[in-house]
Amino acid sequence: MITVMKCIICGKNEAYKSGLCRSCLADKIQLKSENMDLTVCPKCGAVRLGKSWHYDNGDRYIVRSAESHIIMDKNDKISRVESYNIGENEVTLDLIIEDKNLGEIEKEISVPLKVSKESCPVCNKVTGSYYESVIQLRTYTTQYGKILEDARDTIVKFMKGLNRNDPNSFISRIDTLKEGLDIYLGKKEDAVKIDKLMELDYFCNMKITKSLAGRKDSKDLFRYTHLVRILDLVPGSVIYGGSYYLVKSIRSNTMEVIDTGKGNTITISSKEFFRGSFRVIVKDPDREKFIVLASHDGESQLMNSRTFELITYKKEFAGKEIDLYRYDNKFYTL
Ligand SMILES: [Zn+2]
Ligand SMILES: [Zn+2]
Repeated sequence: MITVMKCIICGKNEAYKSGLCRSCLADKIQLKSENMDLTVCPKCGAVRLGKSWHYDNGDRYIVRSAESHIIMDKNDKISRVESYNIGENEVTLDLIIEDKNLGEIEKEISVPLKVSKESCPVCNKVTGSYYESVIQLRTYTTQYGKILEDARDTIVKFMKGLNRNDPNSFISRIDTLKEGLDIYLGKKEDAVKIDKLMELDYFCNMKITKSLAGRKDSKDLFRYTHLVRILDLVPGSVIYGGSYYLVKSIRSNTMEVIDTGKGNTITISSKEFFRGSFRVIVKDPDREKFIVLASHDGESQLMNSRTFELITYKKEFAGKEIDLYRYDNKFYTL
């Protein structure tokens, strides 16, 4: 026969530890709580405890703060929080208390909560159109072009990613101008990251200028303008730099061009290009489609598919059709 030990206090429940049931054990532990204040940003949900704002893991900070608002006997300490509930007026905690004499005991407590609402510094910056840097997206030819919108989309996507980890990383506004796009950034370091991103994607160059925006805490505040100029040419465009060059291909750091005088292909790096004094002669290429009628012995008979004009070209082609680029009454293949 199994005899069940009853609790020595209530005589009702089964004894659990030191002759006491769980409920009578919990009664031995005296916990009190103090009122707790919490500020929440109504726009983004960030929470402020004391002086600091927390933009992530708000619950964790609230629970930690609630724990610090519990007063207990010097023989007791909180071993862990089993579960919690954050309500409108109180934070309820299921705690495991470590008592010097009784060991681990479960105990529930509510910490009274007073929540006030206040816009956080980040939301204040965003709504106040705060910015530290401007990215000025421009084309090399200074004409507004779709390439700027592609670059803008890349930047917007990139900034969304940064914002997930840092609320201070945001775009405060984008202005569309006749000559390009101006992107205003909340954090100056992000502009440097964007420069690197643009360098990876485009044949471009950067120029950074700073201007005094004011003073804060006896320190000069600067704003940074990053002028990003993107080459808005395509294969078949023609540039002049001592010689006339037909653009063969453009990659992020280099461009291959055909020297129309000598016929050879050379490579120009973006550094050389932007340092040099190149002029754009033809932006939109003059391209014609030709049908290959015959191709052998190092030459081809071609027919212009639009004008039906026949030409002989000093090169063999494998395909039935070929695009040629016209410049100065001569045709080039890329
Ligand atoms: Zn009992
Ligand atoms: Zn906020």
